[in-house]
Amino acid sequence: MKHIAILGSTGSIGTQALDVVRNHPDCFEATVLTAGSNAELLIQQAREFQPNAVVIADESRYGEVRDALAPLPIKVYTGSQAIAEVVEMSEIDIVLTAMVGFAGLRPTVAAIRAGKTIALANKETLVVAGGLIGDLCRRHRVSLLPVDSEHSAIFQCLNGEGNNAIRRILLTASGGPFRRLSADDLQRVTVDQALCHPNWKMGAKITIDSATLMNKGFEMIEAHWLYGVAPRDIQVVVHPESVVHSAVEFADGAVLAQLGTPDMRLPIQYAFSYPQRLNLPGPRLDLFALGALHFEPADAERFPCLRLAYEAIERGGSAPCVLNAAGEVYNLAFRERRIGFTDIPRLTEVALAQAAFIEKPTLDDLFAIDEEVRRNCTERLPR
Ligand code: NDP
Repeated sequence: MKHIAILGSTGSIGTQALDVVRNHPDCFEATVLTAGSNAELLIQQAREFQPNAVVIADESRYGEVRDALAPLPIKVYTGSQAIAEVVEMSEIDIVLTAMVGFAGLRPTVAAIRAGKTIALANKETLVVAGGLIGDLCRRHRVSLLPVDSEHSAIFQCLNGEGNNAIRRILLTASGGPFRRLSADDLQRVTVDQALCHPNWKMGAKITIDSATLMNKGFEMIEAHWLYGVAPRDIQVVVHPESVVHSAVEFADGAVLAQLGTPDMRLPIQYAFSYPQRLNLPGPRLDLFALGALHFEPADAERFPCLRLAYEAIERGGSAPCVLNAAGEVYNLAFRERRIGFTDIPRLTEVALAQAAFIEKPTLDDLFAIDEEVRRNCTERLPR
């Protein structure tokens, strides 16, 4: 039995993780659940899964959760700090970091320091602080198991490969809903169109990041830190069917790929059950029904967020933290209809050019940079 803390249990990854727990009650227990502000769903989940503790980050919703769960032996906490504290509970084996954005960094650091295995969905943690997180994991002998489908695919391709070095990572991308649009057409896309991902149903922030290809840029940075592969050796391959979840090329030219239907429950479950594989109900890959798979290069001209991500990781230091902070502000501003779709990369590039640069930032530096960049980017928004 593995005891799991699910940070962000009310989100897209969180609810699918609970589905995995529901399917395997003999293997997994949801020991801690946390949410941002969705008190109703958190209460419902707590009643069903009976965790030891829940945290609602939004303090204004605390009373509601506390009162609803009062008849049950479940501890109820509130505030962001409580999320970073609850992960230290001795009962927890695995912490699934399924919170969205920079907010995931602090509890992930706390969980690593407490020696917990990390099932990492919150890619922003590695984008912002990949080097520091790697050092911290080595120091505390903590395993970081990828949940992102591409990184789980790479992880699965590396099983049994021992010291065989990776020559190249082929990081697949659906291309998002606007793969075929011209640069002109991209200026006119609406929020509703951008929120319609062709293959995956995900939270709003990552769905917009997928449409701009910022998400693929983040994943390139994530792959760089997880697998020690130079950014120039990580090739983004647009593959509209989302069946090949990524591939690895070795010295002899052999390419290993992992395939499957687009279902996030697989990489979530694999991170929980590794190295075992468990049954997963749902549709199976039918190659005859698919008939053909397609691949094409990503276009960093039309989707400049991808170029910005390569530039930021090549520059290193605090640059990826700036990219992430500016990206979060402008992603939200687009969803709030305050800026257009192509303003996201344009304004993010301005933020990268204007922000101060620190070559070897500490964690404290990163928190300060994140705050400053958010403030400056917010000031640049139209009122
Ligand atoms: P969602 O927006 O669906 O869910 C986010 C979760 O985080 C919710 O439980 C939300 O609570 C909680 N949350 C949001 N803000 C805060 C905060 N400030 N403090 C505490 N909790 C907070 O996101 P996704 O599930 O789509 O994504 C989660 C992470 O997983 C992201 O980093 C994403 O990049 C990554 N990921 C997602 C994939 C997917 O298929 N969705 C695929 C691969 C990676 P509430 O509901 O109360 O707002």
